[in-house]
Amino acid sequence: MSQPKPQLGGSEFLEDVLRKVKEAVEITGYDSSYYEVLRYPKVQLTVSIPVRMRDGSIRTFIGYRVQHSNARGPYKGGIRYYPTTDLDEVTALAMLMTYKCAVVDLPYGGAKGGVACNPKELTRDELERLTRRYTYMIYDIIGPYKDIPAPDVYTDAQVMAWIMDTYSQLAGRQTPEVVTGKPVALGGSEGREEATGLGTAIGLREAAKALNMGIKGLRVAVEGFGNVGSYAAMYLHEWGAKVVAVSDSKGGVYNPEGLNVPKLIEHKKRTGTVLGFEGAKEITDEELLHLDVDALVPAAVEGTINARTVHDVKAKIVSEGANGPVTSDADRVLSEKGVFVVPDILANAGGVTVSYFEWVQNLKREKWTKEEVLAKMEAKLVKAFHDVLNTSRKYAVSSRMGAMCLAVERVCEAIKLLNIWP
Ligand code: NAD
Repeated sequence: MSQPKPQLGGSEFLEDVLRKVKEAVEITGYDSSYYEVLRYPKVQLTVSIPVRMRDGSIRTFIGYRVQHSNARGPYKGGIRYYPTTDLDEVTALAMLMTYKCAVVDLPYGGAKGGVACNPKELTRDELERLTRRYTYMIYDIIGPYKDIPAPDVYTDAQVMAWIMDTYSQLAGRQTPEVVTGKPVALGGSEGREEATGLGTAIGLREAAKALNMGIKGLRVAVEGFGNVGSYAAMYLHEWGAKVVAVSDSKGGVYNPEGLNVPKLIEHKKRTGTVLGFEGAKEITDEELLHLDVDALVPAAVEGTINARTVHDVKAKIVSEGANGPVTSDADRVLSEKGVFVVPDILANAGGVTVSYFEWVQNLKREKWTKEEVLAKMEAKLVKAFHDVLNTSRKYAVSSRMGAMCLAVERVCEAIKLLNIWP
């Protein structure tokens, strides 16, 4: 499961995304009419979802599907189930998907979906009924060549299986390619579980290379030890980096000599927390952020590196496994300190990249091995990293703005070629 609500409220979050896009359009020299196209999503659908609850009563939930741009290909983006999800938040996230897919050069546009609900309070049957009714309500605008949903906050492979089945029943044919992030038994891809964390680790490794630091012996602290953080830590450990600290929502552990990551993963599986790991000192999450390390991997929730916590950050590289872990004001401070940030739309794009491979495998009715999938993903991410680096050098901007400029260039180029019809 993923993170709670962005620290910014829906509309503030949307304004922040739009500000960055506008700046990138200006920097890349496209005229303001491109921003006029990009500032609005193409489609915003709001639906009501009546669900029969366990006590026989009916409760109506509100759901959204927002499609921002399909200039580069069918819309692609996750669906989140979260109590405070609203239209502005889903819109901002749909926009970010457009740019994330463009940075990694996937043939997709950007979309996002959401249902305002608290899945923790719903039974499995209620969740299934909600999911199937929501799918029915958005059926007309999704599809393998139109818009391909995926999991996001508090939705998982099971939810994707229900969406696929509902869509297939309505379409009258099995359509695994309508969603990604499915269980492997139903056409999900090998490697999806590792993909995002591996991508974050690759981003960090490439940044270290670019700074002539190398990965061997690099001292790294990883905030968040869930799906993304634990796989990032595992690969970094395998490549010879020294993962000296990790944390989860209960606190962190630190060993200046380096933690044994495979054993720590076992420990977390067994006890549900990283705390109590043999030979490690317990620290707070904030202490972790301020350790004297070469690199930080924030892979927990958004906004943990903020105006309050940023000043004591000593790392030279930050690879953003989480979405939006650095607030805008903290970002300016990191930039002044000369910290190399691998921005989220690049550093956590491994997940959507393997989702793309899942879609391709489904369309071709093929099954690739985990090794094949992860090798293809690595090639894409390494190329994207260097494309971002070159773009930030070309425009003399931060790597975060470089990633946005690269994405905006790719999207604007597509819009230019398509032209506005009629
Ligand atoms: P997860 O739920 O598996 O793990 C989150 C981890 O963060 C947990 O270990 C949790 O205990 C920890 N955590 C929560 N609050 C914390 C805090 N304040 N301090 C320290 N640790 C804290 O989620 P995930 O799938 O690993 O996602 C993590 C982030 O990566 C989210 O921002 C998510 O949106 C982003 N992301 C995930 C994927 C993916 O494929 N899983 C893809 C793109 C982006």
